[in-house]
Amino acid sequence: MEQKIKTVNLSKDNSKKIIILLSIVIVILLSSVAFVLINKKPVQKTNATLTQTQSSTRTEKYSKADKITAAATTMATTLNIQQISQQEAMRHQVTTTTAPKTDDGTVKDKEKTIYLTFDDGPSSYTPEILDILDKYNVKATFFVINTNYNKYMKNIVDRGHTIALHSYTHDYKKIYASEDAYYKDLQLISDTVYKETGVRTKIIRFPGGGSNTISRNHCKGIMSKITKGVEEKGYHYFDWNVSSGDADGNNVPVQKLIDQCKKVPKYSNTIVVLMHDTKAKHTTVDALPTIIENYKAMGYKFSAITDKTPPVHHKVNN
Ligand SMILES: [Zn+2]
Repeated sequence: MEQKIKTVNLSKDNSKKIIILLSIVIVILLSSVAFVLINKKPVQKTNATLTQTQSSTRTEKYSKADKITAAATTMATTLNIQQISQQEAMRHQVTTTTAPKTDDGTVKDKEKTIYLTFDDGPSSYTPEILDILDKYNVKATFFVINTNYNKYMKNIVDRGHTIALHSYTHDYKKIYASEDAYYKDLQLISDTVYKETGVRTKIIRFPGGGSNTISRNHCKGIMSKITKGVEEKGYHYFDWNVSSGDADGNNVPVQKLIDQCKKVPKYSNTIVVLMHDTKAKHTTVDALPTIIENYKAMGYKFSAITDKTPPVHHKVNN
């Protein structure tokens, strides 16, 4: 009996020892797992326990990983740029820029110049836009249409900006029905601007830009004809190489417009920025001060388009 009790006691002691040992093993195992997890980061250069071979293998492995990460980032960026440029290319592919290349391939126009342009005005917001431009001592260009606010055309001119022609009706179906229809509409807006301001301007912008494909639905090949035709008639047409994105919808968020305007082309120091002066686009007015400040910080000099400004033309798609 006594012997039996002793055995039981002994085995109780052993169990305790086993539990303690097991606990230690578990703790060690858990620590190891934690160590492995923490050291998963690809920075191993100072790990002294690695032999030279191990070290170089690991470095190689990690630099491969880094390369893959870098490649993935580049791919994502490229994709992003491609997406943007595809969208841009769809609507306004630029073929002529104001930045002719020199013999060594560098951009000739060293000076950074920006032309802010406002389409589809005048609107009830025109006075606000003019005030902001004055505040920053910036001159811009307004491609106008016939609106209920034609009286503001005079303010645009009086405050030193360029007034330019966009369209009388801005109705694609009408203006792109035929060459004749286009020129009739152009003459109407030219006469309206002349009546309101006394200015007979030769600076124009096609509704939808020279690259628009909407005109295809109304008259095949019309853009190829009138982009040449207007020049022969002494007009100078301007597209754009930066889009504020305010044409993508009504009241596009302010930050989106600001970010969009920062996407300037690499091939030219001269940029023509497309914006709108029209109802339901008040976010353009809200974003304008920051947009101007950003361009100033980027070193751009503001200018209004004149007859002498080298044109920015999109690729004609119809
Ligand atoms: Zn327009």
